[in-house]
Amino acid sequence: MQTRITIIGAGAAGLFCAGLLGQKGYEVTIVDNGKKVGRKILMSGGGKCNFTNLDISSGNYLSQNPHFCKSALKRFTQWDFLQLVNQHNIAYHEKGHGQLFCDNSAQDIVDMLVNECQKGTVKFKLQTQVENIESYNQQFKLYTSQGVIDSDKVIVATGGLSMPALGMTSIGYKIAEKFSIPVVPVKAGLVPFTLHKPLLDFLATLSGVALPVEVSNTRISFKENLLFTHRGLSGPAILQISSYWQAGEPININLLPDFQFDSQFQQLLEKNRNQTIKNCLAQILPKRLIEALMQLNLLADTTVKQLNHKQQQQLYNTITQWTVVPNGTEGYRTAEVTLGGVSTEALSSKTMQAKAQSNLYFIGEVIDVAGWLGGYNFQWAWSSAFACAEAITA
Ligand SMILES: Cc1cc2nc3c(=O)[nH]c(=O)nc-3n(C[C@H](O)[C@H](O)[C@H](O)COP(=O)(O)OP(=O)(O)OC[C@H]3O[C@@H](n4cnc5c(N)ncnc54)[C@H](O)[C@@H]3O)c2cc1C
Repeated sequence: MQTRITIIGAGAAGLFCAGLLGQKGYEVTIVDNGKKVGRKILMSGGGKCNFTNLDISSGNYLSQNPHFCKSALKRFTQWDFLQLVNQHNIAYHEKGHGQLFCDNSAQDIVDMLVNECQKGTVKFKLQTQVENIESYNQQFKLYTSQGVIDSDKVIVATGGLSMPALGMTSIGYKIAEKFSIPVVPVKAGLVPFTLHKPLLDFLATLSGVALPVEVSNTRISFKENLLFTHRGLSGPAILQISSYWQAGEPININLLPDFQFDSQFQQLLEKNRNQTIKNCLAQILPKRLIEALMQLNLLADTTVKQLNHKQQQQLYNTITQWTVVPNGTEGYRTAEVTLGGVSTEALSSKTMQAKAQSNLYFIGEVIDVAGWLGGYNFQWAWSSAFACAEAITA
């Protein structure tokens, strides 16, 4: 009898893995609770899917074991995925920071993955919720909303918990726990910050304002855009640092990341000696932001010439070392990724198979590997799926 493989989750990792295995002649069934496959892919990258990055290393990933992702990322790289994208004549472009997006639509990536599945023997079972799993005689019984599925191998590709509206469930973690596989506590990553009152009220007028900043904590910094929202802070810089943020911890925002004190800043003040600080700074920062900082008593409402050297330095420090303590994050509702997940200690980094349960595999975001913003999460989905498929077909 042929090996029956069931993949739970028709997202990025599940679809890619299904195509690879189906083309090798395995009897693959891919089960998903949604009406459509690849729902997160479709809404990713603003509908254009940032499907990988030109510059990928293990340093772009968070995990309790930072070495775990290395082997898979090395064996199926961004160049390998690009080769597939090129074979399917999908037009793409780089948007900065090495991020690659579809020119046309994220649908191109979903169509490519489905097309790869159709080249083989992949059966789709949609609108089917997996509820439980049992193992017996080296095989598995999957209990679903549409009945029982018997399998020789099960691949868990159920993703994380972000965007619950898309049908995300914790079944992947429950399956792990069922086989005594530890799960690293999960939380939202790549997620906007909410702010306490009264700071939130002071910044309310800034909703929609974006500017380049460098945001940091004691461990890491990111130089990208910050966006003020009616709930707090967002934009790529904030999403990136949110994955490294602990509750209660302050973050430091440099509002002039490319402005040196001795050269540019002092020159600006010299040139504008007779102006108010507000009008002078308005040449380099959004006016509404300066007004908000004044309301917060962080900037004085005087003229530039009233400042001595020490006060000039203080003004510069205020703008380049603005300390904000976020209230929290917006949580899974808007998070792009889930931090934590199935412990890498319990999986083989070569095959993604559970060490304690043969024929049970975990791939993609369900594992305790979360990437930075910029195509890193999809690349992890492709690379981990490839590692698993390669191990099964070897
Ligand atoms: C708004 C948004 C934008 C993003 N943009 C990008 C981007 O541009 N670039 C990037 O690299 N990453 C991006 N990400 C992250 C990326 O989408 C994920 O990391 C990636 O989709 C994970 O792939 P996966 O296959 O592991 O899981 P998913 O793609 O989440 O797929 C999991 C599938 O499992 C199904 N499922 C879950 N539970 C069950 C169950 N009990 N029964 C049946 N089926 C179930 C789900 O419905 C889902 O279809 C974005 C995420 C979000 C939320």
